[in-house]
Amino acid sequence: MKPLPKEFNVLQIEEKWQRKWEEMGIYRFDWKDRKRPTYVIDTPPPYPSGDFHMGNVLNWTYFDIVARYKRMLGYNVLFPQGWDCHGLPTEVETEKEHKIKKREVPPDHFVKLCEQLTSKYINVMKDSIKRLAISVDWTTEYKTMNPDYWRRTQLSFILLHKKDLIYQGTYPINWCPRCETAIADAEVEHQTKQGKLYYIKFHLEDSDHLTIATTRPELLPACVTVAVNPHDERYKQHIGKTIVVPVANHTVKIITDELVDLTFGTGVVMICTYGDKADVKCTQKHKLPVITVINEKGEMNKNAGKYAGLTIEQAKEAVVKDLEKGGLIEKTEPIQQEVGVCWRCDTPIEILEQKQWFMKTRVLTPLVEKNALEITWYPDYMKKRLIDWAKSLDWDWVISRQRIFATPIPIWYCKKCEHIILAESDWLPIDPRTEPPKIDKCPKCGSTNFKPETDVLDTWFDSSISCAVHAGWPDKKDWKSFFPADLHPSGYDIIRTWAYYLMVRHLALFDQKPYKSCLINGMVLGTDGRMMHKSLGNYVAAPEVLDKYGADAARQWSATGGATGSDIPFRWPDVEYAWRFLIKLWNATRFASLHLQDYTPTKKEVKLELVDRWLLSKLDRVTQKATEALDNCQFNIATEETRNFTWHELCDRYIEAIKHRLYKPETYGEEKRKAAQHTLYTAIYRTLQLLAPVSPHITEEIYQLMYAEDKKHKSIHISPWPTPQKIDEEAEKYGDLLVAVIGEIRREKSEKRLPLNTPIKKLTIYAGSKKSAHILKQTAEDIAGTCKTEKIEILPKKGEGREVQGYTNVHYTADY
Ligand SMILES: [Zn+2]
Ligand SMILES: [Zn+2]
Repeated sequence: MKPLPKEFNVLQIEEKWQRKWEEMGIYRFDWKDRKRPTYVIDTPPPYPSGDFHMGNVLNWTYFDIVARYKRMLGYNVLFPQGWDCHGLPTEVETEKEHKIKKREVPPDHFVKLCEQLTSKYINVMKDSIKRLAISVDWTTEYKTMNPDYWRRTQLSFILLHKKDLIYQGTYPINWCPRCETAIADAEVEHQTKQGKLYYIKFHLEDSDHLTIATTRPELLPACVTVAVNPHDERYKQHIGKTIVVPVANHTVKIITDELVDLTFGTGVVMICTYGDKADVKCTQKHKLPVITVINEKGEMNKNAGKYAGLTIEQAKEAVVKDLEKGGLIEKTEPIQQEVGVCWRCDTPIEILEQKQWFMKTRVLTPLVEKNALEITWYPDYMKKRLIDWAKSLDWDWVISRQRIFATPIPIWYCKKCEHIILAESDWLPIDPRTEPPKIDKCPKCGSTNFKPETDVLDTWFDSSISCAVHAGWPDKKDWKSFFPADLHPSGYDIIRTWAYYLMVRHLALFDQKPYKSCLINGMVLGTDGRMMHKSLGNYVAAPEVLDKYGADAARQWSATGGATGSDIPFRWPDVEYAWRFLIKLWNATRFASLHLQDYTPTKKEVKLELVDRWLLSKLDRVTQKATEALDNCQFNIATEETRNFTWHELCDRYIEAIKHRLYKPETYGEEKRKAAQHTLYTAIYRTLQLLAPVSPHITEEIYQLMYAEDKKHKSIHISPWPTPQKIDEEAEKYGDLLVAVIGEIRREKSEKRLPLNTPIKKLTIYAGSKKSAHILKQTAEDIAGTCKTEKIEILPKKGEGREVQGYTNVHYTADY
């Protein structure tokens, strides 16, 4: 065996192996292999923003550890990588970059420009993923903007349409006036904002007035009724009467509804089109008229009368001014209110009634719940998030979007009779915006004039079929052998979107759950413990960390930062510690390699000393713990256990306790040297294997230099995961005593500022019992050899001198 070089450059080693692994093809999935079990990871395709942050480092590391571990366990691992390309930010950036307005250029031209920008960002992110040593099989890469992926998204639309799970209709939907598109419930975020509650007088036709408290006076022109709770004694006499809506000056009826909160404001509320979801419910329940006053741009329309053309904010001001003029505002109060905002741009959303395409998701909620309970969650409590979300949905999923860079909806309309023409599956992929349907005439009226559906599909409609797409649907006949995926990883913040949409779509399409387990990561907190955010000054960019300490250290930080699913703080000292550990590992294995140059591995029984058996038993114990932890996706436990074993047991205690045997076979015997060599060789190999999923580069480098020739695996990453042999309780117990005594003597020397090799003229150990004395006598040579002791005496009687830490019965005296 050749010795390891003294110097090593982490960044160079990492770059080298990233290149070599790709050349060696060790992450390739073998589609034809029917012998090995398969393990399929539903890698979430990221949105190509061009940014790879520490949150990405965290979650990619999580599932890459799983991929590497499973490969070593003998699985044929399918680890694909896709890109969820379509999105509004790309459209906005493209408009800016080329100084164009998307609706003023041909759609196919605009799409081309968006594709160019997306490809640029994909390349940036791909480099980061490679740099982090994510063991993706790049032959499986896909992009949702490619026509081949469109084809699959469009096919899923057609299938769901035929199953009657997709419909078109005019319903209230969430609308972002800034993005000018419909958005789904999942894309609405709730923020608490400081608002104002206006107490407004509504005149009764016969007599006085009622006062209504509202935060949205600009919706007065959209008021369709006034409601009170049927149990509210204060207003009994007014029920069924009419009342005048101020400013708008139309009359509405006073009705009762159980949902009116007696304690809010005055207990009288106005129902508008639409202030919130409660308005929608009430309107539907009482079949109230609909008066839409806000348009797609967030401006008041002609139904708002004199306020038409104003923005919502301007209209609010103008209405309040008019109310004040008429003496109709009784008072105002500050109020903390929950406001739904667009998750992309933070603009308060409006509820508009619009013709859109919907997927029936609510009918599937019982099935979603059943399947969510069946799958394994890491950690378990996260399943509640999915179930609660599914149950909370009031509306079906609005899947149409008023954008350009997205998968087109494969629909045309007959210009004459409005008949809907759905594409056939063999027309796909197709863009109705640029291509006519492949029929001669309308099957209903015979007309030959068609108009395309210009709306496009929600991005989630692309990415929520990834589990089937990874498996090869619809082209591979045996795609179901790779479906459902074994693992779906996700941040807890996107369970309601990613995990949910995957679940509901695959259930709808294939009556089968898309994944068998769900691995959840928390968020990365900034250096000050708050959410990491550029504006808070606590932001650390991933390249900064990778440039300084390399991927292996950054991955260790990800693995050890905290329990799976919990928020993980980013702390430089953690990465530094990881980096120092790598240096320690290198130095220890280099030391071993120097002493193993004449060693040939043998299958023959080797006569081991107590401390050798002690280490090998500890090694089996840590193997057991790490394996169990990895089986349960407890990366922190697996990594900490292995790291502590390596640093403390192997490097600090064992290597120190055998140096005399390695250096002086003439004194201690060749056999004892061989035993130490054998133990070192075995322990280092195993340690490298246990560390390989977390720190893949350095373990590969050492493996290739020290072990590849003997072990004959192309890479440590496809070497078989170790199985623990046997725990030797006795060896551990007495070995612990031995290393404690050695450790205490070394501690004393360092406290006295003596070099560790300072000779001890006479060492007397008071073992405290016959049994301990018996054990220590057998290992007296190791104690003497390690501690440079000229004379050693071990007595069974109770203590005198310095106490050995952890053993109140064991003491010693040392004469220097
Ligand atoms: Zn928006
Ligand atoms: Zn027709």
